[in-house]
Formats: sequence, C-alpha cells, structure tokens
Amino acid sequence: MRYLDIDLNLSKEDIAIQREAHEFAKGVMRPAAEELGRLTPEKQIADDSPLWDFLKQAYQLGYHAVIFPEEVGGMGLTPLQQAIVMEEMGWGSNGLCIQLGAAGAHALGGLMSMNPELLEEFTIPFCNCKDGSIRGCWAVTEPDHGSDTLGFGESFFDSPEIRPNCRAILDGNEWVISGQKSAWVSGAPVANHCLVHLQIDPDRGFAGIGAAIVPLDIPGCSKGKPHEMLGMRELNQCELYFDDVRIPAHYMFMDNADYYFPFGKQILAGFNMTVACFATGLARAAFEEAFSYCHERVQGGKLLKEHYSVKRRIFEMFSRVETCRALSRRAVELNGSIFPGFPEYSIAAKTVATELAFQNAHDAITILGANGLSTEYHTEKLFRDARENLIADGTTETLQKVGGHFLFETYPRTRESINRMG
Ligand SMILES: Cc1cc2nc3c(=O)[nH]c(=O)nc-3n(C[C@H](O)[C@H](O)[C@H](O)COP(=O)(O)OP(=O)(O)OC[C@H]3O[C@@H](n4cnc5c(N)ncnc54)[C@H](O)[C@@H]3O)c2cc1C
Repeated sequence: MRYLDIDLNLSKEDIAIQREAHEFAKGVMRPAAEELGRLTPEKQIADDSPLWDFLKQAYQLGYHAVIFPEEVGGMGLTPLQQAIVMEEMGWGSNGLCIQLGAAGAHALGGLMSMNPELLEEFTIPFCNCKDGSIRGCWAVTEPDHGSDTLGFGESFFDSPEIRPNCRAILDGNEWVISGQKSAWVSGAPVANHCLVHLQIDPDRGFAGIGAAIVPLDIPGCSKGKPHEMLGMRELNQCELYFDDVRIPAHYMFMDNADYYFPFGKQILAGFNMTVACFATGLARAAFEEAFSYCHERVQGGKLLKEHYSVKRRIFEMFSRVETCRALSRRAVELNGSIFPGFPEYSIAAKTVATELAFQNAHDAITILGANGLSTEYHTEKLFRDARENLIADGTTETLQKVGGHFLFETYPRTRESINRMG
C-alpha cells in the first residue's frame, strides 16, 4: 500500500525524490536493520557484518549527507525534500537513521564552524565519501549527566557545582581533553571521528561548554564495548574515553563558552526536527502494518476492517500520522530556512511525533493481537524502537521543559527577527 501524500505543493522532483528514498528504505534499510538486529553487538561491528554493505550503499546514494548543502558535497535538498527523505528513512529504520545522522556529526561541526580549514579537512571529505569509510559520532551525555546537558534555563545550569566531567584545558596551541562520555554515543563503536561537548570554563558549570572535533585514532582515545538495548538493536553505541588527548587549537571550533547558548539552541532546532521526521516514518509504518492486516484477518465472521471499533482505531492512527507529518515538515521548512532556528518548533515536533509514533506502534500491536508481538511481524520492532525514541536526544519531559523555557524567553517575536538563509 502506498500512503498518499496530500501535500499539493509537492513538485514532480519532490515526488521522485520521495519514491527513491522509499525504495532505499524498503529494499536496503529494512532488511539491513532486521539482519543487524538479530546479531550480537560485537558481531554487528565485526568485519563480516552487513553494516558495512549498508553504509556503502547509503553513502553511494548520498543518504549520509541529506542535510548538507551541495556546495560541500551534500545532497543539496530543499528543506521540504529533506523532511520527505527523512520520513521515508524513518519508515525504513529509526536505528539506521540515527547511525547515518551520527556519522555526519563531525562534518556538521565543520560546517557550523564556517572555518575553511575544518570544512576542507572534515566536512567536504565526509560529504563526498562514497564507501562509508568516514564516520563520525556526537558525544554529549556522560555517565553522570544525561538530562543535565539539556538544562537550559535551570538554576543549576551555570553553577560550578554541577558540571560536565569531560573537560578540555588549553595548553599552548593545543587543547588537552580528559574524561568519559556515556554508553549511549550512537555510532561510536564504528566511528573514526567525534564531535564532543567539553567543559572549557568550569566556573560556569554546564553553561561553560565548548565543542571540538576529535579524530578517534589519536593517542589517548579509547572506546567501551557495544551493548544491547531494548529497541533500535541495529544501532551500535558505546562509551568514549579521553585520556590526555591533544588536539590542535582550531579543532575546538567553539572555544568560547559565551557561544554555547546560541549553539545549543541551534543544535536543539536541528536534532529535534530530524528525530520528528524519523518518528513520523515510524508512526506511518505502524499505521500501514495495522491497515493491511485489517484486510486479511477475519474474526466474528468478518474482516477486522468491517468492525466499528477497529475502523475507529485505524482512523485515530491515520490522524496521528498526519499530525506527525504536518508538524515535522513545518519544523524542517522553518528551521531549515532561517538562522538562528526556533528550537521550540522543532521540540514541539519531536515530542509530539515521538509520543504519537509510540501510540501508533502500541495500537498496531493491539490490532494484530498476538501476531503483533511475534518477531515474525514488523510491529514488535516498531514498538521497541518507538519506546527508545522517547528518550533519544532528550526525554519528552526534559525537552518540554526546555521548549517552555525558550518560549517564555523569546516571546513576543517579530517578523523582522526572522533571517532567511541564502
Ligand atoms: C537511541 C538513543 C540514542 C542516543 N544517542 C546519543 C548520542 O549519540 N550521543 C549522546 O551523547 N547521547 C545519546 N543518547 C543519550 C540520551 O541523550 C539520554 O539518554 C537522554 O538525554 C536522557 O538522559 P539519561 O538517559 O541519562 O536519563 P536521566 O537524565 O538520568 O533521566 C532519568 C529520568 O529523570 C528525569 N529527569 C532528569 N532530569 C530531571 C529534572 N531536572 N527534573 C525532572 N525530571 C528529570 C528524566 O525525564 C527521566 O525520566 C541516546 C539515547 C538513546 C536512547
């Protein structure tokens, strides 16, 4: 079944891009995610893992660089096209979406730095990589600090008493990094680069953060073991350790904590709209599973689709997909076109889409009955993945609190304050 896209503004090119992304999600992502999800974490990253072939195919088609502009070798898509592609990929596998998104973290750091040296060294090679060999990850959270990293507006945020443990000290023309990042750093087991958040001004607590690109093959960098999670089992994650790691000063592209607040807002605007699109794809996948099952399963002498209560439940699921799509597209169209972005819109899209996707995954299992719980059907995976999305990139509660803070901080807005990007 093809889910109709009712957006009358889609051009022929948009529709062609959507079709291609769907073919990739269906023919490459889903089978790879299924296969990877059955392997142990160690086997997933072994030399003979299907991960490498998946990455190669994704990079060849440019799906590792969906949000990058053409000038640096990215896909050069419009914001609407980005949203469309990310939704299709989310339909394929939310775990592999995160894997590909994390792979570009250091390259995104280079892009945000606007430093030609970093663009040359990191961003352009990543975007033009066709074999999957250049892979980054984004290390923010620490064993002792998860939601703390999103404490914008909280009284503790600029207190020296609560601060990140992973820190960097300037020594001549090098920064020296020490500390540990949490076990949840997506893609870290296979990453050769990292964008890492570091304490650079201890007197300012969490507000005293800088951001650096760290190649993970330099002395002092090491990794923990990959581990198993409830959902997104195709996604590898592990800790990162930094033991007096020395990087050239310019790799610390955000070296002044005064910029952390606007940087953090921009990151939230970007991350959240992306996860919202992935979750939309998941919500749609759950709806489609349930919708087609209703055409096959007979109970009470008639197809499920003929029962009133099933029709009602299916309609609620459909409404949730449309809500997710409307909100996530709107957030990408807005924050993909302006600078600085409005994080509250992306956070609204992420928190709503992930919650509705979880409800759809739950309802899909209800409609499939015991089949829905069986690994023979896709619904049980969607349910597990949807649960992870409620924590990935910040829990719903934490993000809502941050979104509320931004809302009060920045209103009223004026049209003049919106800067369109080139
Ligand atoms: C699939 C997935 C991918 C991830 N990828 C990455 C990655 O690539 N890089 C990375 O750095 N991290 C990553 N993470 C980590 C993720 O960002 C954190 O798990 C998330 O921010 C929550 O932190 P935590 O797990 O430490 O929970 P905690 O912060 O310990 O929260 C536990 C509970 O307490 C609540 N809580 C916390 N603080 C407060 C407060 N101040 N007031 C009230 N309630 C509060 C929370 O809402 C939650 O319910 C990933 C996580 C997942 C699940």
